[in-house]
Amino acid sequence: MFEFHLKKNEGPGGPRLGEMRTRRGLVHTPAFMPVGTYATVKTLTPEELRDLGAQIILCNVYHLHLRPGVEAIAALGGLNRFMHWDGPILTDSGGYQIFSLAPFRTTTEEGVTFRSHLDGSLNFLTPEAVVGLQEALGVDIMVVLDECPGYPAPEAEVHRAAELTLKWARQSLAARNRETALLAVVQGGMLPELRREQAQAMSELGFDGYCLGGLSVGEDKELTWAMVDVTAPLLPAAKPRYLMGLGTPEDLVEGVARGMDLFDCVLPTRNARNGMAFTTFGRVVIKNAAYTQDPGPLDQSCGCYTCRHFSRAYLRHLFAAREILAYRLLTLHNLYYYFNLMAGMREAVAQGRFASFRQEFYQNRLQGGNARG
Ligand SMILES: [Zn+2]
Repeated sequence: MFEFHLKKNEGPGGPRLGEMRTRRGLVHTPAFMPVGTYATVKTLTPEELRDLGAQIILCNVYHLHLRPGVEAIAALGGLNRFMHWDGPILTDSGGYQIFSLAPFRTTTEEGVTFRSHLDGSLNFLTPEAVVGLQEALGVDIMVVLDECPGYPAPEAEVHRAAELTLKWARQSLAARNRETALLAVVQGGMLPELRREQAQAMSELGFDGYCLGGLSVGEDKELTWAMVDVTAPLLPAAKPRYLMGLGTPEDLVEGVARGMDLFDCVLPTRNARNGMAFTTFGRVVIKNAAYTQDPGPLDQSCGCYTCRHFSRAYLRHLFAAREILAYRLLTLHNLYYYFNLMAGMREAVAQGRFASFRQEFYQNRLQGGNARG
């Protein structure tokens, strides 16, 4: 079961408010999906995730296929049961991971052959097999196998990858059992005309939603947003749109401004483990000596567990001593900040004041920079 209801839409390519209904619950959009690559959002329990405001999580079929294996997870009752998360799960197909992680890969019309980045074993995946793997995991939303060209890449290469992605999208639709939502990926590199063609062709196929892929692969931000701007207005308004892999707080605000509904990114969790906190007033690098005696919270306007109970000085000490609690507390804060940011944007769109929300968001960051500088 999968439905998307668009509750508010400020014109084509403008901010939207929606609701995704899955058999495992509702997702209010725009939403951020924390990344649980190996069937865990690193350092947190599912209960903690829920309390922070997670509505849906993202897992990756590439990683789970290589370890521990989809068959093993299916035999244990499926991915939700395996990881004790009862909310919706979206799995990414692995197209991007094969492109970015596999030490060897070769693509034909039939599929992609690649070596595992774990043990070097040779794997072959077809678009149909990738749908089958995601169905076997029992997730709510799956993504088609796509080919992500690098950047920069020769135009012919970008065209070939886009055409192959379209062909595979058709095959994926035909292969699925219809109980699980299936999202297409719009590729097209940094070629606006090709992006438009792909968006139109994919829209006509009638997917449950559309991902914007192949962005943030090394290009300037300006170019990223230009590609989103040409694509978004051509996608069916009544279907959710997922901007893949872009996820600084600024990216989320800019993505929502352009009509994106779903986001994922490793940044809040990965950066937490590297000692970096996202706050209302900009980024805090906790190991900085300036925080040695700082009694204040990470973010004075944050209501998370970490900010309510711990000082920057204590967090800095934990991080310096490499205490596991440092990674947990920073992850708790960063995800709380992200979910809160999304909730704030949803409220602003609902009340028709997204433009002033966006302005205030940047003003706060400017102030933070001035205060520290
Ligand atoms: Zn906090």
